[in-house]
Amino acid sequence: MRLGIFRGLGLLAAVAILAGCDSQPATVKLTDTKVDAAAKLAASKAAKAKAAAAVKANELGQIPVLMFHRIIDKPGTTDDRTPQQFRADLERLAREGYVPISAAEMVTGKIDIPAGKHPVVLTFDDSSPSQLTLNEVGVPAPNTAVSILKDVAAKHPGFPAKATFYVTRDMFGKSIREEQAQVLGWLRDNGFDIGNHTRDHVNLRGRSHKEVEEQIGSIAKEIFALSSVRPVSIALPYGNQPSKKEWALHGKLYNHKGAFLAGYTPAPAPFSKAFDPLGIPRIKVMEKKGDCKQFCSEAWLDWLKSNPDMRYTSDGDASTVAYPKFKTPYLRKAFVKWSLPY
Ligand SMILES: [Zn+2]
Repeated sequence: MRLGIFRGLGLLAAVAILAGCDSQPATVKLTDTKVDAAAKLAASKAAKAKAAAAVKANELGQIPVLMFHRIIDKPGTTDDRTPQQFRADLERLAREGYVPISAAEMVTGKIDIPAGKHPVVLTFDDSSPSQLTLNEVGVPAPNTAVSILKDVAAKHPGFPAKATFYVTRDMFGKSIREEQAQVLGWLRDNGFDIGNHTRDHVNLRGRSHKEVEEQIGSIAKEIFALSSVRPVSIALPYGNQPSKKEWALHGKLYNHKGAFLAGYTPAPAPFSKAFDPLGIPRIKVMEKKGDCKQFCSEAWLDWLKSNPDMRYTSDGDASTVAYPKFKTPYLRKAFVKWSLPY
């Protein structure tokens, strides 16, 4: 009986086709393709989730944003690192599975690193010559931050020389315009990120809106005139926010996606609800001693190492935000489309 009904339907369909209803087979075909595509998508998503689980991906985890200043032989303050210390800082990061990304990539959520790896953001404040000095043919001088970073990167495939330089009018010690254009152009051409650190390195706390705009806008304009780069983020001098925090992000001459502070914890992932673009914490680079017993880089890297579930771990796919299902309440709404809970 059943068979008979189906035969009957088949006959009807055949009649419809013969009757010249040529939209019918087309619709059937389209639906098949859609079902097929949906099934394929579901299968691929399931495979991606499985792969994410295998590397314990956690793209809602925390990211260390390290704050460097000068790299010099005889440190004047605890903000400075010697070339040997800086090299050891980078070697540790490479050894522990960190991959440098820029501040611009972090604040825009473009974190494209291999599965199982952890992002780290290397930031350099104050645009000092110890960070970048070029010789006559445009090669970084030995023992500058850039030179050491490139050296460590060459020894560790998978650890790219990537960093963000927060520039003031000091411009790496260059006062001649052509030389300023050379250093900024060199950073741009070598894949480094250029950020804003205000023109005169002023404390923005308590300043008028006009002063804040002037301090941030004038250096933004200068950076653009010299290199055609528009900074994507700012590092606030002394970590101090202006009276209205938004002033640091948006002005007539600038439009930042993130403002970085000067302390004291790892930063939330940009996909997490805890992420606040108006105040992104950074970590001072220093051993576990004195004021740095708990809240500087050695202490935090130790903590992230012993609390791997708190740390950002990539699933290797920049188009998804993968995390254990349990963490779902922490996902920022804007990223629901990319979410890959497992
Ligand atoms: Zn500074």
